[in-house]
Amino acid sequence: MREYLPEIVKCVRCGRCRTVCPSQQVLGWESAGARGRMQMALGLTSGLEPSEGLVRNVLNCTTCHQCVTACPSGADPHRVTRAARRKLIALGHTQPHQIEMQERIKSTGNSLGDESSRGLWLTELPVHEHSGYVYFAGCLASYRYKSTATATYSILEKLGVGLLEDEQCCGSPLFRMGLDASELIAHNSRQIEEAGAHTVIVGCAGCYSMFKERYQGFDVVHLCEFLADKLDQIIKKKLDILVTYHDPCHLGRAYGIYDAPRKVIEHICTLVEMKASKDTASCCGGGGGVRLGYPELSASITEELIKNIPEEIDYVVTACPLCFRNLADAGVRVLDLADLVWMAVE
Ligand code: SF4
Ligand code: SF4
Repeated sequence: MREYLPEIVKCVRCGRCRTVCPSQQVLGWESAGARGRMQMALGLTSGLEPSEGLVRNVLNCTTCHQCVTACPSGADPHRVTRAARRKLIALGHTQPHQIEMQERIKSTGNSLGDESSRGLWLTELPVHEHSGYVYFAGCLASYRYKSTATATYSILEKLGVGLLEDEQCCGSPLFRMGLDASELIAHNSRQIEEAGAHTVIVGCAGCYSMFKERYQGFDVVHLCEFLADKLDQIIKKKLDILVTYHDPCHLGRAYGIYDAPRKVIEHICTLVEMKASKDTASCCGGGGGVRLGYPELSASITEELIKNIPEEIDYVVTACPLCFRNLADAGVRVLDLADLVWMAVE
């Protein structure tokens, strides 16, 4: 933790992050915000004994990157918070939801703890071997949104994309919560190497950021980037619908992918922007283990996002199944970008 001191002392306590941190906005306390987490992390570097409240507040961060974008000092409270999570685990403060996620992945290879086969969504589609490109479906699409995985690969298969023989969770849920994801990284890296792939295509913002941050030796692109220059080739019809786009934090603020999803959407139908979008887009509340560990906080953050949705739209489109899940659970009419594309292909 002491190696994070140079990052922690960048915080001049200006309070700019107080206005954007979604957990602080809902909970109201300084300790539930980025500035408070920086101070708690400082305490951990000097041997502060963690209280129950400190542990909860370090784990209440959705890893949304709003503090990183807003901070005038160039500090990264999100990265410091992740280090604080690892420190708390090392000190023996692992929480029940973190243990549950570890157990789910250990016993089934997926973050849902689903014991069924991962490839049930594949139906009768042909699988291309050694194409150089593979589709990595991710846990949520493989088990909870199978029709989205099927739609995605139905599009990609026509472009010659293959699959991994034995895909497992990318490790993002473990990594974000401060847990060890090295076995999953090693397993998937081997699979990608054996498939002879130079590029992995994902439909999930969480998988995208995990591959970017923790894997090496190949490129990773999100579906929207892969399709953005192939639209004339694959889109067969325009749809007479009005949609808005929710920027997933781990695709937008974290990696600046704002134009590609909009290019895809505008090729198919009419896009109306939310009141806050791109680098000021609201967080869905699902990331960083918050949905699993603190569902009420997660749902309250989603409610804040919903206030940004224009009234006249038919659907909210997003490019991440976790954002999809939080929005759908709150009663929002939401479409995964892959499903929107498939509607315009069929
Ligand atoms: S915006 Fe940056 S410098 Fe200001 S309080 Fe937050 S983390 Fe500290
Ligand atoms: S990443 Fe998001 S939730 Fe976490 S401290 Fe920063 S603004 Fe708050």
